[in-house]
Amino acid sequence: MNRRLIIPDWIRFDRIVCPACQTAQQAAVTWKNGDPFPTFIHRCVACGYVIMESEWQPAAPADHQAPPFSEETP
Ligand SMILES: [Zn+2]
Repeated sequence: MNRRLIIPDWIRFDRIVCPACQTAQQAAVTWKNGDPFPTFIHRCVACGYVIMESEWQPAAPADHQAPPFSEETP
């Protein structure tokens, strides 16, 4: 067996919004031992856009529909 599997040492699932089509979805943040930073790369499940760390926009959790920014209108 000479396959090289890349298995992250650490993984976290974020719920993010695609900057291209605004679809909320789960994206994995991975980190491998020896890497200086975790990897934030996710391909949008809806439009295929590749979302990088600079475009990572956390979305509200699915079970909590409050907007991320509360607009206090009187
Ligand atoms: Zn998208």
